[in-house]
Amino acid sequence: MKNVYIDFDGVLGVFDTTKSIEEVAKPGYSLTVPLMKEMCNAVKMLKEDDALSKEFNFKLLSAAIALHAEQDKTQVLREEFDDRFADDAVFVQYGTSKSQYAEGGNILIDDFSPNLHEWEAAGGIGIKVYNGINGNHGTWTGYSVHSKAKPEVIYRTIKGILTA
Ligand SMILES: [Mg+2]
Repeated sequence: MKNVYIDFDGVLGVFDTTKSIEEVAKPGYSLTVPLMKEMCNAVKMLKEDDALSKEFNFKLLSAAIALHAEQDKTQVLREEFDDRFADDAVFVQYGTSKSQYAEGGNILIDDFSPNLHEWEAAGGIGIKVYNGINGNHGTWTGYSVHSKAKPEVIYRTIKGILTA
């Protein structure tokens, strides 16, 4: 089984560039973040795909600024998705590389190109999410999806990458 790791901020939840680090670090902040419905619905379709679930585990992989932020994000996953997705969520400390989870061809779905470059350097496969506020530097030339595409399109695109 390979793991497909899915980022939270800027992928499942809107990344608000107007918020300061202090605001984002407040307990309860992640509970107030609007969800990106097309991405969330596409992830539900991926998780519920029987053929994919024989080969892949789908898990959240998010940087958390503090323990309360982990708890808040886990609560969002429990409400929007299910207990298993919430309980399987993986968190790295804010500022710590996600690439420790890349080994063996695991997949990362993320909006931040430096994370994706590190991931592929460590042996994984990256899929970039263009969310309307990123992608301004043009450094990513690998797989990608657009967060505002129809959920079916996001789902089929990612499924195509996973089964290529
Ligand atoms: Mg992100």
